[in-house]
Amino acid sequence: MSRNLNTIIGMVLAAGVMLAAAPAPGQSQRAAGLAHIEAARHAAKYDNAVLFDHTCARLLVGADLPFGRIPRPIDDRDPANYKTDPVRVFDNLYYVGEKLQWGATPSAWAVVTSEGIILIDTMFEDSMHDLILGGFEKLGLDPADIKTILLTHGHSDHVGGARYLQENYHPKVIMGGPDWDQMEQSERFRGPKPARDASAVDGQKLTLGDTTISIFLTPGHTPGTISLLIPVTDNGTPHLAALWGGTGMQYDAAEYSKQAARFRGIVAEAGADVILSTHPQLDNSDVKLPLVKKRRSGDPNPYVVGNQVVEDYLTVAHECAAAATLMPDEYAAYLGR
Ligand SMILES: [Zn+2]
Repeated sequence: MSRNLNTIIGMVLAAGVMLAAAPAPGQSQRAAGLAHIEAARHAAKYDNAVLFDHTCARLLVGADLPFGRIPRPIDDRDPANYKTDPVRVFDNLYYVGEKLQWGATPSAWAVVTSEGIILIDTMFEDSMHDLILGGFEKLGLDPADIKTILLTHGHSDHVGGARYLQENYHPKVIMGGPDWDQMEQSERFRGPKPARDASAVDGQKLTLGDTTISIFLTPGHTPGTISLLIPVTDNGTPHLAALWGGTGMQYDAAEYSKQAARFRGIVAEAGADVILSTHPQLDNSDVKLPLVKKRRSGDPNPYVVGNQVVEDYLTVAHECAAAATLMPDEYAAYLGR
C-alpha cells in the first residue's frame, strides 16, 4: 500500500513540477507551494512520513485520499474493529485509545499523577466505555480518580465520551474557548455534548499532584485547538512529550502554519523528545504500542525519538499548511469543497 501511495505522490509531484514549469498564470505561487511540500518531505523522513501523507500528500491528491493510506472500514463503530488492550507507554502515561482502523481512529491518553488522573480526550461514547472505562478496569485504575479532562479540540471523535465522565465522576473539563462555542453550535456533532466548563488559556500550567502539563492554544485544525507538553518518566528517567492537538488543516491553513512554527519553537526550547498525537497513526502508535508491549528490560522506549524528530514533526505540519495557503485549488479539494 505504501509503495503505491509513494508512486502516486511521485506522479503527482512530477505533474505539479511540470505544470509549474509551464507558463501559466499563478505558476510562481504554485511553485512556491510545491517548494513547501518538498521542504516538508525532507523534514518528514521515516519517522514523520505518515504525518506527511496526512497533510501534504492529502493536499496534493485532495478528496481522493481522504484520511491517509488506510481505507475506512465498513463499520468503524463495531467494537470488534476498535477494541484493543490499554498499554502503559511510560511510568505515568497510558494509551487507552482505539485500535488503529483507518486515518480517523481517535486516541486517548491517561496521565497518572500523585493526586489523580488527567485524561486527554475521550473519543466517542462507545469507545470511551469500552476502552477508557474498560481499560482502567484492566489496569487497576479508578475512573473516580479522573480529576481533569483535557479536550484537544471540539470534534465528536475526541469529545463524545466526555459527558458521561463529567456526569458520573465530576472532573474539571478544559477545552479551548472557541471550541466550546463551535461544539455547542454544531449540528454535525455525534453523541452527547459535555456541559461547558473551563476554557484553556495559552501558556496555562495545569498542575495535579507531582505533574504539571503546559497548555498552548494552537488554532488551525479548529479555532480553539490546544497542544500540550507532558512530563513523563521511563523507568524513572524523565522525558518530555509534545502532543500536537489537531492534525487536519481544516480551520485555517495560515494560522495552522503559524502555530506549528510557534509550537516548534516551544518544543525546541523545552527539549521535548517524545511526540504524541490524538490519532494513533499520526504518532506511529500502531507500530510503537506493540513494541512497547514486547519491550524487555534495557530495551529503548520506541516513543523516545529525540528532540530533532519532534521539531521535524512540527516542520512537516508548518510546511504543509504553508503549501495549502499557496495552493487554493488543492486546498479546496483537500477540504472537500
Ligand atoms: Zn478533529
